[in-house]
Amino acid sequence: MSGPGGPDGHAVALSVVVPCYNEEESLPQLVKVLGEVLPGVADTFEVILVDDGSRDRTLEMLREIHAADSRFRYLALSRNFGKESAMLAGLSQARGAAVAIMDGDLQHPPQLLTEMVPLLDEGYHQVVARRTRDQDPVVRTFLSRIYYRMINRLIDVQLEDGVGDFRVLSSEAVRALLSLGETNRFSKGLFAWIGFPTAVVDYENVSREAGTTKWRLRDLFNYGLDGVISFNYRPLRLSIWFGLIVMAVAIGYAGWVLAEAVIHGNSAPGYVTIICAVTGFGGVQLILLGVIGEYLGRIYAETKRRPLFLLRESSDGPGRTPITVD
Ligand code: UDP
Ligand code: MG
Repeated sequence: MSGPGGPDGHAVALSVVVPCYNEEESLPQLVKVLGEVLPGVADTFEVILVDDGSRDRTLEMLREIHAADSRFRYLALSRNFGKESAMLAGLSQARGAAVAIMDGDLQHPPQLLTEMVPLLDEGYHQVVARRTRDQDPVVRTFLSRIYYRMINRLIDVQLEDGVGDFRVLSSEAVRALLSLGETNRFSKGLFAWIGFPTAVVDYENVSREAGTTKWRLRDLFNYGLDGVISFNYRPLRLSIWFGLIVMAVAIGYAGWVLAEAVIHGNSAPGYVTIICAVTGFGGVQLILLGVIGEYLGRIYAETKRRPLFLLRESSDGPGRTPITVD
């Protein structure tokens, strides 16, 4: 990870990793702002722009940006692997003593780095930016509040609302992240899992500079599910408890029906009972199967041990062998 040269074995003082998926509209402004801000943050820096299989002109623009200023390096993944993988690809190539991660749409104000990076010198290994949700739609704010309250009760690491992928890591923290070889990467959880002293810097929410968000509601739901499943086995246990409770209720009910039949004679045809039992148990079984399936699917994905991303091209030259993270 660390390159040659540099006082402490690092090629540059700061690497900035930016995943880019169809960001042709945001890139010019991003590069301009980074070029203005970063010299004030670190003596030497590199920006690693990761093209996550964009279908617009993003890659062409990255080539041009690199040609104009070699401090802007780029990687191109062979297809769209998702933001998590794009970030990971960038991290694996970062040569800085400190590594920042930020979005390409300027929703993560680069100016904040002037506040965040110096905190590493105070002994912190992670500095996270926390977004205030003032301008978000009410429903989304409400849902995410509920989600974080629920998830923190369920899982073993603590996650915080508004804290996203905008953060600065020490090279030790980066190495720790890269050493986690799991395929299903829920990076919010992984950032929390690796630990290290962490500082928080608040910032005002900014709306997207250009282009549109790449998250649809379905993505958000899946992301939420990942958060729960990747970090514990409690849903499995919960489902067992749930099954037991339903079974107890059903047995109690059956006993009551039986007692009634014995005392008053067989009065009802029993249609209701059968329907209740069939639908009730059908539901419980489906839930249980779903939970087990979720975990099974993940085990399957992990056992394949496929690389989390493949490189198609980079500013270090075309056709370089893909880097696996392990
Ligand atoms: N992104 C990516 N791959 C994807 C989706 C998004 O690299 O498959 C990048 C995107 O280019 C941006 C960042 O991830 O730099 C955040 O995406 P977006 O702004 O769409 O998410 P939001 O800010 O709405 O959460
Ligand atoms: Mg965004």
